[in-house]
Amino acid sequence: MSPCPDKIRMLGFIIPIILTEERDDVWGEWDGGAGTITLNAKASEDLLQVTFLHEAIHAIESFLGLNINHKDVYCISQILWVMFKENPALTEWFFQNLRKEH
Ligand SMILES: [Zn+2]
Repeated sequence: MSPCPDKIRMLGFIIPIILTEERDDVWGEWDGGAGTITLNAKASEDLLQVTFLHEAIHAIESFLGLNINHKDVYCISQILWVMFKENPALTEWFFQNLRKEH
């Protein structure tokens, strides 16, 4: 499996992804001031992915000035992750198609 990338592009910005074992208080964090996503490297791969989605939605919310409550951010990230996790054929089709462009 490919490792978690160290940065992503989103809405014209580069967002560094910081994997750290230094945090015990959270699985992940979007820092709007620094423009970074921090992920807890102690998390399982599944938890790392769903946490990444959660923090990415916080980043989108922040960039676009959306007003999504935290429960909804949690729900959307969980649902997206479970949809990909429980539908391997969908995931393969979806991401294989996206990879073709690069
Ligand atoms: Zn959150």
